[in-house]
Amino acid sequence: MSLLVVGSIAIDSVETPFGKVDEALGGSAVYISVAAGYFTAPVRLVAVVGGDFPERHRAFLEEHNIDLEGMQVVQGGKTFRWGGRYHYDLNNRDSLYTELNVFETFKPVIPEKYGRSSYVCLGNIDPALQRQVLEQVAKPRLVVGDTMNYWIESKPDELLKTLRVMDVIILNESEARLLTQKPNLIVAAKSIIAMGPSVVIVKKGEHGALLVTKDTIFSAPAYPLETIFDPTGAGDAFAGGFVGWVAKTDDVSPGNLRKAVIYGSTLASFCVERFSVDGLRDLTYLQIRDRYRSFMELSRLDEV
Ligand code: AMP
Repeated sequence: MSLLVVGSIAIDSVETPFGKVDEALGGSAVYISVAAGYFTAPVRLVAVVGGDFPERHRAFLEEHNIDLEGMQVVQGGKTFRWGGRYHYDLNNRDSLYTELNVFETFKPVIPEKYGRSSYVCLGNIDPALQRQVLEQVAKPRLVVGDTMNYWIESKPDELLKTLRVMDVIILNESEARLLTQKPNLIVAAKSIIAMGPSVVIVKKGEHGALLVTKDTIFSAPAYPLETIFDPTGAGDAFAGGFVGWVAKTDDVSPGNLRKAVIYGSTLASFCVERFSVDGLRDLTYLQIRDRYRSFMELSRLDEV
């Protein structure tokens, strides 16, 4: 089924203890679309770049079956740029710079043919813009959204309005605590459900993810990787794998959302094995299935 993705497209410079990349392709919408594209294609991408956006990055997106009709190109403008540095504990990163550039005046315009998208994934952008996207789409089957500390702190009222129109919110532990001021993650997730979404997914980095609904909790493990080179985009690849699987199967039942969490974790695990989007570059559906099965083995038990 059709999937619309909105978010940032970036040119990233990233340094980890294992190396660095400059001028690499990044941005929330990129990681989400590329990950989701392994399940459903073409993914409809709505984002903005400047006239300086390198041809090789555009080619990468096209090779991954991403429909670029909704990608605005601002001639004479500069693409959003982000620089980050990770420490030995890869859970900690410093943002070295955030140059919004053309992203600062971005107004998402949804091409007419995207107006009937069944699934919508709102990547990390201003929550007011996330709502503007939804206003241009005829009642989707499922709206999945992401956010970050920056919006929780700077635009809490806008974010609260947007939460009311999201079905699934994906956020990490610290964001869940910041949003609710509740230290306990289950209590925090339930408070977020009271704000609007019926499903809250809390990502816990190398400790997996929790899917919480009003009455149920599902805990997914993280894949025990020994080679993590660059955690950038893991959260977005998770969101892309999650929503891509749901769109492919067109099934929003609780059991299928649990499978989608494992597919999200699978795509995130591939993402962090290489720098930038390289971990998502050449995957096969077979590799994805194999890792999904390994995930299931991680917590399989025999009956007593
Ligand atoms: P993640 O590691 O999942 O948080 O996503 C990292 C990606 O988010 C990078 O490729 C950045 O270019 C992008 N990014 C960083 N800061 C922002 C921001 N303020 N708004 C939108 N995207 C951002």
